[in-house]
Amino acid sequence: MSGFMIGLAWFLLFFGGAIYLAYNRINLLASTIASGFVLLAYTVFGSGNFFWLLLLWLAFAVMVVPNLREFRREKITRPALDIYRTMLPSMSDTEREALEAGNVWWDGQLFSGMPDWDSLMSFPAPQLSEEEQAFFDGPCEELCAMLDDWDIAHERGDMPPEAWQFIKQHKFFAMIIPKRYGGLEFSAYANAMIITKLASRNATASSTVGVPNSLGPAELLLHYGTDEQKQHWLPRLASGDEIPCFALTSPQAGSDAAALIDNGVICKEQWNGKSTLGIRLNWDKRYITLAPVATVLGLAFKLYDPDHLIGDQDEYGITAALIPTDLPGISIGRRHHPLSIPFQNGPTSGKDVFVPLDSIIGGQEMAGKGWKMLVELLSVGRAITLPSTAAGGGQAATYASGAYTQIRKQFNLPVAKFEGVGEALARIAGHTYIMNAAVAVTAGAIDQGEKPAVPSAILKYHCTEMGRKVANDTMDVHGGKAIMMGPKNYIGRSYMATPIAITVEGANILTRSLIIFGQGAMRCHPYVLRELQAAKDTDTERGLIDFDDALFSHIGYAISNAARSFFLALTHARFSKVPLNTPTHRYYQNINRYSAAFALATDFAMLTLGGKLKIKELLSARLGDVLSCMYLASTVLKHFENQGRRAADLPLVEWSIRTLMYHAQEQLHSFLRNFPNRPVAFMLRRTIFPRGRTYYSPSDDLGKKVVELITQTGESRERLSEQAFTTLMPNNPLGLLQEALVLSEQLLPLEIKLRQAKKEGLIKSGYLGYQIDEAAKAGVINAKEKTQLREYHEKVSYLLSVDDFAPEELRRSGVSSDSVAALNVASTSNAEVVEPTQKKVTKKAGNRKVAGKKTNRKKTTAKKSSKKK
Ligand SMILES: Cc1cc2nc3c(=O)[nH]c(=O)nc-3n(C[C@H](O)[C@H](O)[C@H](O)COP(=O)(O)OP(=O)(O)OC[C@H]3O[C@@H](n4cnc5c(N)ncnc54)[C@H](O)[C@@H]3O)c2cc1C
Repeated sequence: MSGFMIGLAWFLLFFGGAIYLAYNRINLLASTIASGFVLLAYTVFGSGNFFWLLLLWLAFAVMVVPNLREFRREKITRPALDIYRTMLPSMSDTEREALEAGNVWWDGQLFSGMPDWDSLMSFPAPQLSEEEQAFFDGPCEELCAMLDDWDIAHERGDMPPEAWQFIKQHKFFAMIIPKRYGGLEFSAYANAMIITKLASRNATASSTVGVPNSLGPAELLLHYGTDEQKQHWLPRLASGDEIPCFALTSPQAGSDAAALIDNGVICKEQWNGKSTLGIRLNWDKRYITLAPVATVLGLAFKLYDPDHLIGDQDEYGITAALIPTDLPGISIGRRHHPLSIPFQNGPTSGKDVFVPLDSIIGGQEMAGKGWKMLVELLSVGRAITLPSTAAGGGQAATYASGAYTQIRKQFNLPVAKFEGVGEALARIAGHTYIMNAAVAVTAGAIDQGEKPAVPSAILKYHCTEMGRKVANDTMDVHGGKAIMMGPKNYIGRSYMATPIAITVEGANILTRSLIIFGQGAMRCHPYVLRELQAAKDTDTERGLIDFDDALFSHIGYAISNAARSFFLALTHARFSKVPLNTPTHRYYQNINRYSAAFALATDFAMLTLGGKLKIKELLSARLGDVLSCMYLASTVLKHFENQGRRAADLPLVEWSIRTLMYHAQEQLHSFLRNFPNRPVAFMLRRTIFPRGRTYYSPSDDLGKKVVELITQTGESRERLSEQAFTTLMPNNPLGLLQEALVLSEQLLPLEIKLRQAKKEGLIKSGYLGYQIDEAAKAGVINAKEKTQLREYHEKVSYLLSVDDFAPEELRRSGVSSDSVAALNVASTSNAEVVEPTQKKVTKKAGNRKVAGKKTNRKKTTAKKSSKKK
C-alpha cells in the first residue's frame, strides 16, 4: 500500500471514528477511551511526523479534561457560570409563566436532533367513542342541517332562536364539562371533530360553540375553581342556563394582554344586606366573543389591595373572576360586526362593580395567578378550536372545489383539467390533509394527557395560515361564482372570515415571531432550561453542580448535532434509522436530517446572540418555521399510519411532506443568509448544506395525482373531507356538488356519445343545454338518456348560477338614498362630537378635517345610528 493510501486510511479512521462516536452519541468516557486507543495505535504504527502527533495528543488532552469532573467544575464551569449569570436575559413573571405553561411532547424530540419515532408511533390512533359518534351523527348533523348561512349572516345577523335552543338543549356548550356536572365530557378529539364539522357548514355556529369549549369560564373552573364554584356554575353552564364569555382584551392591551389596566380594588361594601369583603371593579373590554349575550363574564383584571385587607401586598397582579352580567354598573349588549360573520361579539365595561371576594376563580388564594391560569389553559385550547375551524373550512373547500371544477367547463373541458387550476387544487387538497393530520394527531396526544404548549402555538399559526391559503385558492378556482354574494355563494363568507382566526388567541405575526421558537427554545431544548434554572439556584454550590452537568451535556449534544447534520446532509439521510420500512420511510429520514440541523442552528443562534435573539424576530420566526414544518410533517406521517396506511393517500402524503420540508429547507437557508455573525453562518452552511439545497418541492406530476384524488369520487376524496357536512339536501352545496359529480361520472359514456356525434356532424352545438335536444332528435340518445342528461344539466346549471338582487334589496333597512342625502345635510349643521381625547366639545358647522380623519359628518352618523338601536 502506498504511503498516501496508508495516510488516507488513518485519516478516515480518525475522522470517520469521530463522526461515528458523535453521530451515535456515545458517552464521553467511552469516546475518550476509544480515541486514546486509536491515537496510541497511530503513534506506534503510523507514519505521522512529530508535529502531527503533538497536535493529535493535544487534542486528546482537551478531550480528557471534561472527564475529570472536579477539575472541570472548578476551572471551567465556575468561571463560565459567573459570566453566564451576567448574560442572563431579563424575564418578567408573565414571560416566565408563559414559558413554563404546558408540557413538552414530540416537539422536544424534534429539538433533540435525534427524534425517537417509536415514542410518536406508540400513541394510539384517536377514535370517537360510541357516544361521541352518536352525537356526531345525531345532534351535530341535525344542527348543521338547521343552519342557513345567508339567513344567519345576511338576513338575521344571528343564528335563529331554534338553533340557539338546540345548541343549549343538546349541550354543545358543555363538551368539556364532566358528566358529574351535567356536561358531555367529550374527548379533545371529539371536540375537534365536532368543531370541524360545524365549521364546514357555518362559521357563526362553529365560533359560537367553539368559544365556551375552549378558553373560558368552564375550562378555568374545571382546573382552578373551588368545589363550591364548580357546584354552582358548571351545572348551569352545562345546561345552557348560563352563557359564558371570557374578557381579557382591552383597547390598550391587545397582543400585550398582560399590560391591561382594568382593575379591581379590595374593599368592604354591602352585599345582600351585609358588609362584605370584596372587589370594586372597573373595566373596559372589547372584541369579546359571546359578550353581548353572556350571563356570566370571566374577567381578567389587575388586583390591588391598598388597605391591606387580605394581606401585606399592595398589588397582586392579573386575577380572573366570574361576574354575573346583571350586576349594577355593568354595560353589555352592544355588538361588534366581525367581518360579516355574525357570531356574538362585542364590548363590555363595568363601573364600580362590586363582587364578593369568592368571585375570584379558585378563591382568594388564586389572587394574582390569573395570567398563569390563562397561559396554562391556552396550551391546550389553542390546539383545538381554531385549528379545527380551519380544517373544517379546508374540508368543505376541498369537497366543493374538487366537484365544482369538474362540472364547470370552459374551452370544452372541465376547468380542473387546466394545469393552472390544478396547481391551486393540489394546494387546497394538500393543505387540508396537513390540517386534518395536525388536528387529529395533536388532539389524540391531548387525550393521552399531553398539554403541548409549543405544538398548540404551531397549530394555531399554521392551520389558520393554511386556512387562509385554502380560502384564497378556493376563491380563484371558482372565479365569479365565489364573488357574487347571495344564498348561492358558499365560499365568499369563509374567505372574508379568514382574518378572524388569524387575529384571535394570539395574533399570528406575534405567534410566529415570538412564541413558537421563543417558547420552544426554552421549553424543548434538552439543556437550556436546566442551565437557566441552575444559574438561578439560590444554593450556589448545588447550582454549580447542576450547571456543570447541563453545560457539558450541552457541549456533547452540540458536537453530536454537528456530526449528525453533516453526515445526514452528505448522505441525504439514507442510512438514518427510521421506525418503518414503508414507502414513507424516506420522509422520516428527511425529518431526522432537519432535526439535527435545526438543533445545531438553534444552539449557535443562542450562543452567539444570547438574549438578543428575542428581538431578532425574523431569525427566530424562521427557526420557528423549521420546527413547525417538522412537527406538521410528523403529524402527516402519524395520521397516515392512524388511518390504516391507505395506499391511495400516498400522493397526499408526499405532497404534504415535500411542501413542508422544502419550506423548512428554504427557511433554514434564509436564516443562515441573514445570520449576523458571518463566520459562524459560513461554518454552519458548510455543515448543514455541504451539498447545497437538495430538497425539491412537489413535482407537477405529483400535483396532478393529488388533483385526481379530489376531482373524482373515491375513498381519498371522502377521507379528506370525512368530517364535513356533505348530506344531500336542498341548501347544502357540498351535498349537491357531490351529487352532480357522481352524475357526471355516471353520464360520462353519454357525454362521449355527444362528443362523437358532434365530430361526425350529427349535432351542431357545443353547449350541453342545446346538445341534448339535438342529439335526441338525431337518434344519438334515447328518451331515457335524454331525461338523465336534462336532469343533470339542470342540476349543474343551478350549481353554476349566482344570485342577483333588485336594487332595493341591497339597501340596508333605513339607509336609502334619501337618508344618505339627509346625513349630508346634517353634516353642515352644528353637531356635538366626541374628540379622540374623549372630551366633549361642540364644533361649528362645516368644520371638517382632512380626508382620512374623522369628520363631523361621520361622528354624527355614528351618534344617530346608536340612538336608533
Ligand atoms: C373576532 C374576535 C374575537 C375575539 N374574542 C376575544 C375574546 O373572547 N376574549 C378576549 O379577551 N379577546 C378576544 N379577542 C381579542 C384578540 O385576542 C386580540 O384581538 C388579539 O390578541 C390581538 O390584539 P389586537 O387586535 O389589539 O392587535 P394588536 O395587539 O394591536 O396587534 C397588531 C399587530 O401587531 C402584531 N404584534 C403585536 N406585538 C407584536 C410583537 N411583539 N411581535 C410581532 N408582532 C406583534 C400582532 O401580531 C398584530 O399583527 C377577539 C378578537 C377578535 C378580532
